[in-house]
Amino acid sequence: MNLLNLATSFPDESSCKLKWKEYRDKQGVVCPHCGSKAHYWKSDKECYECKTCHYRQSLRSNTIMHGSQLPFRYWFVAFHLLTSTKKSFSAKELQRQVGHKFYEPIWALLHKLRAAMGKRDEEYKLSGIIELDEGFFSTEIEEERKTEKLKRGRGSQKKSKVLVMAESTPVEEGEKVKDKSRKVGHIKMYVIEDLKAKTIDSKVSDHIETTSTIDSDNSTSYTNLRKLVAEHRPKVIPKEDVEKVLPWVHIAISNAKRLLLSVFHDLKPEYLQNYLNEYCYKFNRRYFGERQFDRMLIAAVTYKNEFRYHIR
Ligand SMILES: [Zn+2]
Repeated sequence: MNLLNLATSFPDESSCKLKWKEYRDKQGVVCPHCGSKAHYWKSDKECYECKTCHYRQSLRSNTIMHGSQLPFRYWFVAFHLLTSTKKSFSAKELQRQVGHKFYEPIWALLHKLRAAMGKRDEEYKLSGIIELDEGFFSTEIEEERKTEKLKRGRGSQKKSKVLVMAESTPVEEGEKVKDKSRKVGHIKMYVIEDLKAKTIDSKVSDHIETTSTIDSDNSTSYTNLRKLVAEHRPKVIPKEDVEKVLPWVHIAISNAKRLLLSVFHDLKPEYLQNYLNEYCYKFNRRYFGERQFDRMLIAAVTYKNEFRYHIR
């Protein structure tokens, strides 16, 4: 999907709704009241009616658009931008592109989509050989804490901890992978509260197959990993060797940092996970090409919006 295709395929609200409905029907509409999957489509009211209990739901209900008042076209422009741009873009940019008066709903729309991207990736676990390490991302501290800190003459930044996992297979002899001894598969990044073993353990069991092998440093946070996967190979890694021993987690961390810093200037810790979702989602689908737009649509009809935010 390029910009010209987008403009010709979806010139108005009705063409977007038609496509949206096609994807909802394909995924299967479920009645939130009785769980039935059989529905009538009531075209006059633009809603589904359950064949069993007659409960009605709109086209947007129980999808990422749940509760949204914004035109379908805005969403489609966002699907396009999110899947066709290699980097990212700010809510300000999308607001300009669609010409909407208010910033807040556009900003929320993007976060809802980033949350759906995260949910999509959570359906898959990493497997094989996995590099694991922590990254520290600079985020803005909360307003209350900022004033308190500034009084002490400190900056307004804090570091959010992120657990990074990357499938990483040794390159076999004769394989062409430029300058690398390992090739990367899928990656995952999760904001964590602390570096306690318990915290790391639960992320690892949630996101890594038990048959996997994990490579990491010998931090005490990782003492239980050998019980959670087939093999854990902790190593003492001198600082200058980290990029050699765990190349892909470090490439992922530095690329994500650069990207986030260049686009989002007020990175708040509570939204960092969503930005990481977008980064990982795009990374994991880097070879999808044209299919990305459709995949985004599938994720958008599949996951009900649960994004909550408070206005500061
Ligand atoms: Zn029903």
